[in-house]
Amino acid sequence: MNNSLYSKKITCPICEGQFDSLKAKINSCKAKKKDEDFCIHYEDLNPAYYEIFVCPYCAYSATENSFEDVNEEDIRLLREAFSGREVERNFCAERSLNDAIAACKLAIHTAELRKASASVLAGLCLKLAWLYRFAGDKQEYKFLSYSLQNYLEAFKNEKFPFGNLNEISVMYLIGELSRRLGKYNDAIVWFGKVVANPERKQNMWIEKLAREQWALAKEQHKGKGE
Ligand SMILES: [Zn+2]
Repeated sequence: MNNSLYSKKITCPICEGQFDSLKAKINSCKAKKKDEDFCIHYEDLNPAYYEIFVCPYCAYSATENSFEDVNEEDIRLLREAFSGREVERNFCAERSLNDAIAACKLAIHTAELRKASASVLAGLCLKLAWLYRFAGDKQEYKFLSYSLQNYLEAFKNEKFPFGNLNEISVMYLIGELSRRLGKYNDAIVWFGKVVANPERKQNMWIEKLAREQWALAKEQHKGKGE
């Protein structure tokens, strides 16, 4: 086994099966660059491949942070949905990029079944979009678009923070996802909200990024002749 990986014992909260899942030792992962939508590229081992735990018995899948976070209703619903289901792929061993993509899709499917919040779906769709980006696959844009739709819904209806994203970071991210999807007018509006937000003073790196991407979106908007 790659010695930058370690094994973690997990009990599935849905079927109570026990299994070991691999995780990347974060100190062994060297970041190469960070995209403006917070996607991190790595030199070698990418910890994103191991962020989703997949139960090998029932296929219940979620991020490590939310894996045990299920209520009685989720357990009832997921037990019913997963009964008789088989997991055809081994997610407990070293994962290829395709394995990571399949694991992330299972996590999205699980989140939809348990009617997860829009912010949770937005985060998972963004993770999947990044995995497609690593693969050079145009499906990236489909999932950036799902992520954007869900962040817009979450922005209207949910309380902040969303995971580790505070309100101003989400505003920025909505702007950047809009820009990547060619919605330059929307991007300009959202970046404008970031640089006018009083919270920017406590989030100076977000303000700086917003100003840079705002200028880029304006340029792209002009270039498109809109
Ligand atoms: Zn299970």
